Amino acid sequence: MESILLRARGVPNSRDLDSYLARGGWEGLKRALAMAPEAVIQEVIDSELRGRGGAGFPTGRKWSFVPKDHPGPKYLICNADESEPGTFKDREIIEYDPQMVLEGIAIAAYAIGAHTAYIYIRGEFFRWARLLEEAIGQARSRGFLGKDILGSGFDLEVWVHRGAGAYICGEETALIESLEGKRGFPRLKPPFPAVVGLFGQPTVVNNVETLACIPHILTRGAKWFASIGRPRNTGPKLFCVSGHVNRPGVYELPLGVSFREIIYEHAGGIRNGNRLKAFFPGGSSAPVLTAQDVDVAADFDACAAAGSMLGSGGIIVMDETVNMVEVGRNLAHFYAHESCGQCTPCREGSDWCLDIFNRLLQGLGHPSDPEQLLRICRYASQGMTICPLGDAFALPISSLVTKFREEFEAAIKRSRPLPPQKLPVMPWTGKDIRFGG
Ligand code: SF4
Repeated sequence: MESILLRARGVPNSRDLDSYLARGGWEGLKRALAMAPEAVIQEVIDSELRGRGGAGFPTGRKWSFVPKDHPGPKYLICNADESEPGTFKDREIIEYDPQMVLEGIAIAAYAIGAHTAYIYIRGEFFRWARLLEEAIGQARSRGFLGKDILGSGFDLEVWVHRGAGAYICGEETALIESLEGKRGFPRLKPPFPAVVGLFGQPTVVNNVETLACIPHILTRGAKWFASIGRPRNTGPKLFCVSGHVNRPGVYELPLGVSFREIIYEHAGGIRNGNRLKAFFPGGSSAPVLTAQDVDVAADFDACAAAGSMLGSGGIIVMDETVNMVEVGRNLAHFYAHESCGQCTPCREGSDWCLDIFNRLLQGLGHPSDPEQLLRICRYASQGMTICPLGDAFALPISSLVTKFREEFEAAIKRSRPLPPQKLPVMPWTGKDIRFGG
């Protein structure tokens, strides 16, 4: 497949507006401005583009939920928080082709009737925030942003907003709260942001990679885009491969290639000639897949059918040397730290899991620990929490326990007797965590 989203990688001065124009840049916006906003939305619906941030929701349908007759302002937000572990693709797009993201933002804003757009970027991504500011300045100076864009009468201002580096602010409603200047607490849905979003107004939140696809859909057509990949899983996708491979990096491939092709052909196979043991197909919040799943297609539907999810496309590869109890501890530590604390099953559950993993790794495990982990995860998933962070820690941890149970049993067998004073307790019952609940 020709390079589409990363076509500017390796081009000298690729961020420069003139370089973008030489690649056919801003032609998509010109075409969009000549169409009715509803026709632009229909074009994106026909392309079958699905959101690249993690959820895989159809982008055109998301835009269509914004009320057309809303009397107040509407907003578009570009989500550049990119906080999912194992994910580093949006930075790559901004590094080489920030004008492409801005063009996608302009087309999306025009389609939904927004005149203000924000790029919410993770606070630590100082370099990429600066690159975006420079790109906005260039686009504005040549009439692609600002007042009366290209003489069309359409106005759009784009602002870069740096967050403070919280995982949960990648979740769209927490992002909106943060953008409003509040603590990044996710909101209950419904109402969905398309109806009640930023400052209480209709808002669309799209990921950087999603918006980067939009100019190409407008210039080359929905049919062309839908011809890449597989039905319902169309278009190019950036896969971030990290972990125990010979060539970690970002690879642009059509949706639907196999994980085998990504890991063995593009990422150069497993390091030191080792064997593949397992991989997270879509960032650390996706249930783990094993070496037997390596022929699964890397797309939304195939991953779901295999019991996991494509998520952000962050493929974390683990070879045979990895201890899955340690992997679980790593996950629990991350999610316990990043839980915003609003929901008990997430706040307490992630911390209890961490306690159990710590005990298992210290040789203080108990035969009931695997079941206890599964029980905690059951109560933190299946819609029991305000936002998907409950699932984000519960689903991968339960998949580790289920698929690598023997490693948990081995850790328990290595256990020394547990000193009673070391037992974590549930604060409100005083019961030993191993037997309570
Ligand atoms: Fe906060 Fe976790 Fe509840 Fe999400 S699930 S709102 S992160 S406590």
